[in-house]
Amino acid sequence: MPQKFQNYIDGLWCDSSDMGTFENRNPANWNDLIGTFPLSTSQDVDRAANSAANAFKKWRLLPAPARGEICRKAGEIMLLRKDEIAAIMTREMGKPLAETKGDVQEGIDTAFYCGTEGRRLFGINTPSELPNKMNLSFRVPIGVCGLITPWNFPMAIPTWNIFPGLVAGNTFVFKPAEDTPHTANILVEILIEAGVPQGVLNIVHGAGTTVGAAIVEHPLVQAVSFTGSTKTGKTVAEQCGTRAKHVCLEMGGKNAQIVMPDADMELALHGVLWGAFGTTGQRCTATSRLILHEAIYDSFIDKLKSQVATLKIGDGSIGGNQVGPIINEKQRRNIERYVKIGIDEGANCIIGGSIPKGADLENGWFFEPTIFTDVTPNMTIAQEEIFGPVLSVIKCTSLEEAIEISNGVIYGLSSSIYTRDINAAMVAVRDIEAGITYVNAPTIGAEAHMPFGGVKATGNGHREGGWTVFDFYTEWKSVYIDFSGHLQRAQIDN
Ligand code: ADP
Repeated sequence: MPQKFQNYIDGLWCDSSDMGTFENRNPANWNDLIGTFPLSTSQDVDRAANSAANAFKKWRLLPAPARGEICRKAGEIMLLRKDEIAAIMTREMGKPLAETKGDVQEGIDTAFYCGTEGRRLFGINTPSELPNKMNLSFRVPIGVCGLITPWNFPMAIPTWNIFPGLVAGNTFVFKPAEDTPHTANILVEILIEAGVPQGVLNIVHGAGTTVGAAIVEHPLVQAVSFTGSTKTGKTVAEQCGTRAKHVCLEMGGKNAQIVMPDADMELALHGVLWGAFGTTGQRCTATSRLILHEAIYDSFIDKLKSQVATLKIGDGSIGGNQVGPIINEKQRRNIERYVKIGIDEGANCIIGGSIPKGADLENGWFFEPTIFTDVTPNMTIAQEEIFGPVLSVIKCTSLEEAIEISNGVIYGLSSSIYTRDINAAMVAVRDIEAGITYVNAPTIGAEAHMPFGGVKATGNGHREGGWTVFDFYTEWKSVYIDFSGHLQRAQIDN
């Protein structure tokens, strides 16, 4: 019998209200059934939202440093369980163990960062325009927050939201991606052990169109944080818009690495290998475009091709494998579709492009690391997010052209430039339209205490990570204290 996992609502582990379940399978070996999870209903979401609303009444009154202390403890438990959690995550998500350990580490970093933030959460005080009057402003929690997360960072992304949201005094209804529910349950277990009270954190598993939509639509849910595809993000934003709810969106990317002729070529090569093919290209910050200056175009491509040929594809739980499987069949079909479009539009597939052969690969959703050259900036594979190990190489003749190509997409999440010329680097930092720009480093590698998010169609102006995430998870309260003993009329008596 497969292991049966449950929802956690109002302090109790429970099944879906109609007992429905779905399967969670290993993407590196679909015969490996990890377990079944509740295919929940809108009734389950309703119970979770009510439980979070009740719990909020007390939770908001617990001092923020005490709420932070719970996060710190959660970080300590995660540290002790790091290897075990990474193994569970690799089994359900596919990326190699070194990467899932990194994913847990990002959760630990966020826990420790947010834990201490409970002692800051600074407000701002300004002078009053009237005598004997004091003006204060400080952050207050919002209430019940809905959290809808994707599968590519099953630990990091939930912790980026839950830890700061809890420290700020909010409660949660959390719906993780259907492909990575086990990691999400572990996070809930850890927070229970760390001392999160009944009702403060609820997890409801199931389909996006039922559970996700019910969270977004529920009247008790005041704010929604969503990370996922642009298509679904827009639907979530529309639903939140008609209900006047706060919404934080983290959606697609089409990130480019620029390499100038004066760059350290070995460094740039290692950067693009990690940026494009790490996590099998399934990161929102993955390098999906490589913009090469014409002076180094041919030589760089030659070296890159021979390096890519050595990448070891396989089950991420086996040491030495560098490129794990694609998350599921639907996603692999989508990648195959883009490869065909690339070929049809005239790009040159110089390596990869197919499902790899091999006895150890035949039961998993693997796909070869793929490079297209002779890509022009307007081709579909240079414009649309593929979310797989597919790199489009574009030639440029100048820094200005490289930046123009980098900016010539609807998205603006991450970006990178390799150059030894400080002036070129500074122009790129100034002119690239992206939430994140790396100099002499790949497009991936966010740190927990820095703002994370993108411009243009990537997001809606909010940032996760660092101090900026608290802007989403709090409201401002302005307080005027008049100790003059008589009526003072602002704008009239001064
Ligand atoms: P992908 O599966 O490509 O990562 P999605 O945007 O479909 O991207 O999924 C991201 C998260 O959004 C998942 O947890 C998914 O279940 C959820 N989701 C999907 N459709 C909806 C929807 N209509 N409303 C709310 N959440 C949804």
